Amino acid sequence: MEKAAQLYEGKAKKVFATADPNYVIVSYKDDATALDGLKKGSIAGKGAINNRMTNFLMQLLEKQGVPTHFVRELNDRETVVKKVSIVPLEVIVRNISAGHFAQRYGVKEGIVFAEPTVEFSYKNDDLHDPLLNDSHALALGLATKEEIAQIKAMALKVNETLKAYFASIGVKLVDFKLEFGRLSDGSLVLADEISPDTCRFWDAKTNEKLDKDRFRRDMGGVEDAYQEMMRRVLG
Ligand code: UDP
Repeated sequence: MEKAAQLYEGKAKKVFATADPNYVIVSYKDDATALDGLKKGSIAGKGAINNRMTNFLMQLLEKQGVPTHFVRELNDRETVVKKVSIVPLEVIVRNISAGHFAQRYGVKEGIVFAEPTVEFSYKNDDLHDPLLNDSHALALGLATKEEIAQIKAMALKVNETLKAYFASIGVKLVDFKLEFGRLSDGSLVLADEISPDTCRFWDAKTNEKLDKDRFRRDMGGVEDAYQEMMRRVLG
């Protein structure tokens, strides 16, 4: 399948049309942004790592009964996915306190929750992705009641599958962000990516950060952390 016109360029990916209106090609970039777009940079090799890791995890999730947009990996950086219309919600699942959760509620990082949390942000850069609840999402017409229920159930299923998988490779899945899309028939599938850009990963033994927090917080060792996650996932 060949790339046709570029449809969209985001912060970390480009999306191209194909000859088939049901499919698009995603191309992962090394560009990185953080802190609501204020911090910009590049992480060498990130595009290929995020592409390959996302595809591996999407296939793992499909096997566990979670429908995804994944179709076929074309090369290191490019993948054919089903064309969806993205539900404008960032769906965040947390197992351990970190990041904005720790800031917002004034608690330290590293508190292990008895049950995972699910929260939504409105995907809107101009408004800086404000936190919102189910009734807000419904009032704004971002999703139907049924879709919201389904998104939550799918997000928790993704969490159970990924938490167990990452534990098996010595990684704590602290939190992550998912996006869902609607296919032309209206059914929901998991879309976007699952990578060190969108998840917090801590080494199970040392709690060393193996994700984008190293970039966000200028900790150094950013490329090494992405490589280490790639090595653990894909050998
Ligand atoms: N996240 C993301 N994109 C965003 C915001 C958050 O991928 O625009 C991910 C982030 O990597 C982390 C989780 O969602 O794994 C929870 O992020 P948090 O709300 O703590 O915000 P952050 O501190 O990452 O801005």
